[in-house]
Amino acid sequence: MVCKVGKDSFGDDYIENLKQNDISTEFTYQTKDAATGAASIIVNNEGQNIIVIVAGANLLLNTEDLREAGSVISRAKVMICQLEITPTTSLEALKMAHSNGVRTLFNPAPAIADLDPQFYTLSDVFCCNESEAEILTGLTVSSRAEAGEATLVLLARGCQVVIITLGADGCVTASQTEPAPKHIPTEKVKAVDTTGAGDSFVGALAFYLAYYPSLSLEEMLKRSNFIAAVSIRTAGTQSSYPYKKDLPLTLF
Ligand code: ADP
Repeated sequence: MVCKVGKDSFGDDYIENLKQNDISTEFTYQTKDAATGAASIIVNNEGQNIIVIVAGANLLLNTEDLREAGSVISRAKVMICQLEITPTTSLEALKMAHSNGVRTLFNPAPAIADLDPQFYTLSDVFCCNESEAEILTGLTVSSRAEAGEATLVLLARGCQVVIITLGADGCVTASQTEPAPKHIPTEKVKAVDTTGAGDSFVGALAFYLAYYPSLSLEEMLKRSNFIAAVSIRTAGTQSSYPYKKDLPLTLF
């Protein structure tokens, strides 16, 4: 986890949480110059959310920090990157991974309309949700068919694989080798809190890309859909993510 938090109690809690989950904090930097990033999340009765994010120390993670973490980035099986840090830092991380032959999984969240074109060419897997796809393509994306059209627009920008997640309707994918958009359904579950479903999906997908690279993309997406669906059955974001020990053995 290469990131930056503030030298404050939220930052301390964050680092403690990573440690408790066996995640290396060697490159979790702590700064005095900004507070730890924070999010205020409001969830309605249907489990849908509105999130206000104060980025704080996230915006101070810079390319020098990345260079310091170069040895872990270059040895990774997969690197996930998103836009909670500055686009400049995110792009540099993708370049570092790419030049070391590390598979990249890019999640353009929160989306920006004028995304640097290099983000597409440096993404082995480009995964976004409907609203992010709308911002990036200028299209309306609220159905499987519309998502299929948007995957093709994003694919043409140079990513190897594009995935658009569709909430309760699973996801749609297209790739350079199989450009016909394909729909992958998810489980029917009662949504208690969908906050973090996308991150749960992306995390699960990174796990399969890293540890089960011989699975077909469709199978990886089916399993990632399942894990994301489990995460929305309980309240909370990280706290709703299932541990491997609590998931069916058939997923592994
Ligand atoms: P985000 O959290 O980024 O808005 P989505 O809402 O598209 O992303 O959800 C990501 C994934 O989580 C979906 O592709 C699906 O697998 C799962 N998911 C989300 N909402 C539901 C739901 N109501 N029922 C079942 N699965 C869901």
